[in-house]
Amino acid sequence: MALHAEIDGQMIPLRKCDWVKWAPCGCPVGVSVAGEGFVVTEDDAWKEFYDRKRDADRARRQGYRMELVTHARWGAEIMPQMTAPCPHDATEAAKAAGTENGS
Ligand SMILES: [Zn+2]
Repeated sequence: MALHAEIDGQMIPLRKCDWVKWAPCGCPVGVSVAGEGFVVTEDDAWKEFYDRKRDADRARRQGYRMELVTHARWGAEIMPQMTAPCPHDATEAAKAAGTENGS
């Protein structure tokens, strides 16, 4: 049986989805193909973007997040945002990144 994911109350075949990595400011900054043999869980997605768990943990603390979206939404809504310049206030993003006080 093919893997499915529930997105907005609908069961979507995972192979029709992508994992999107969002920056703290709200811009999409990365994408990874979902599906069997690809990225299945959110944990897998973090591993896809970060070799080391502590790098992923740090990114999470900085406000980066992963979201599973459909190819349709990716193409219509998110891909254009990735190629466009960041419309968010840069100081907000800096503030979000600044919440990390080393460790
Ligand atoms: Zn932005």
